[in-house]
Amino acid sequence: TQQPLLTTRSTREWQAADAAHFLHPFTDFQSLARKGSRIITRADNIYLWDSDGRKILDAMSGLWCVNVGYGQQALIDAATRQLRELPFYNSFFQTATPPAIELAELLAEITPPQFQHVFFTGSGSEASDTVVRMVRRYWDILGQPQRHTIISRKNAYHGSTMAGASLGGMGAMHAQGGLPIPGIVHIEQPHAYQLAREMAPDAFGRLAASWLEDKIIELGPDRVAAFIGEPVQGAGGVIIPPDTYWPEVQRICDRHGILLVSDEVVCGFGRTGHWFGCERFGTRPDLMSFAKGVTSGYVPLGGVMVGERVARVLIEQGGDFEHGYTYSGHPVACAVALANIRLMQQLKLVERVRDDTGPHLASLYASLAEHPLVGRAETCGLMAALQLVRDKASGTPFPPERQVGLLCRSHCFANGLVMRAVGDRMIVAPPLVMTRAQVDEMGALIRLCLDKTWADVQHQGWR
Ligand code: PLP
Repeated sequence: TQQPLLTTRSTREWQAADAAHFLHPFTDFQSLARKGSRIITRADNIYLWDSDGRKILDAMSGLWCVNVGYGQQALIDAATRQLRELPFYNSFFQTATPPAIELAELLAEITPPQFQHVFFTGSGSEASDTVVRMVRRYWDILGQPQRHTIISRKNAYHGSTMAGASLGGMGAMHAQGGLPIPGIVHIEQPHAYQLAREMAPDAFGRLAASWLEDKIIELGPDRVAAFIGEPVQGAGGVIIPPDTYWPEVQRICDRHGILLVSDEVVCGFGRTGHWFGCERFGTRPDLMSFAKGVTSGYVPLGGVMVGERVARVLIEQGGDFEHGYTYSGHPVACAVALANIRLMQQLKLVERVRDDTGPHLASLYASLAEHPLVGRAETCGLMAALQLVRDKASGTPFPPERQVGLLCRSHCFANGLVMRAVGDRMIVAPPLVMTRAQVDEMGALIRLCLDKTWADVQHQGWR
């Protein structure tokens, strides 16, 4: 559909100015300059429009964040009101603003009962840094500074700051800038594609959890401070663990007195059909980081929910906690978050994902699993992955240099769909306001792009 454009320049003009001045995140600058970026100019509900007026279904919710969809008046009004009333004041040095206090109160209400306190940040990466500093501070206060090491997982994504990228398990990120920082180690993720195909899921989940205990014993339990993980690894490719994985991880952390940290930046605020991913997978984390969905991405905000085990020590024995950000508890961001959470409650979005659109997406993916290109189709709430394979029966992948995922993604771009490729894993995490009819609309586009990719693969003789 053609929409009136608010922009004043042509696509080519935008692209030229962009390439001349704007260094994008996670981008090969030369390739960007050659191909030209895609300029997104407006959005509504689950759709985007680019600078040529083309309509695109945003199956990634921006960057996993626009949970309530675009154009929600309640959020726009909350921001406008707060900008007029008090656009900024800090929360350093014993001051506070009403939106930050009210949001802290509401978060204590909607998160699991062990969480009564929150530390606000400006992003998910800053939340990861806060986790590292808070976990180490906790053990220092308790007189156990040797409990310093944090265990994370390969292929995890916890942000892009020095601590965030160190907690993350992305080899390409570690290769730049001398990461990880000391005291962070990584175990395998619960995703060994062939292994998981050969074993029953429950047994595989327990096996993957046992890799954590092996690492704890290798390091010495009294040297380990915490284990951190995303309930479902998002940026790593929507890696959904078997149901036995997290409860076993919880038992292992309990057995060794190790703090459990749930990174809910992607899974939080309804994505899995529960308010938080830890509720879907049955853990009781001590800390829980969040960002993205807390404001549906309308303005930046993140934070760490601090469980009573840690909060009591910090508050009663800790003295000054030498950590914080100018924008911790930013009043406009907090006002938008309040409006966002209340809107989610009013629309019963979490229940809708759990009982209606989530199961509907699961049945759609069960039918996509029949496609000749698809080796595996998995969903959890409103996030999903399709593993593209060369040989369906044996699950044999394509050689990575074929870049079949990128080929599929280019068909998505050309056909008005944002679907992300992580290697040959095609992933979606659409806005939670999506209706059943829109799930079907997305499904039809995905099928079309799979068909086109399949035709290319056959034409090239790649199978
Ligand atoms: N943690 C997870 C699980 C994420 O997916 C992300 C971002 O994608 C982050 C942390 C970092 O958040 P931010 O980009 O807001 O710094």
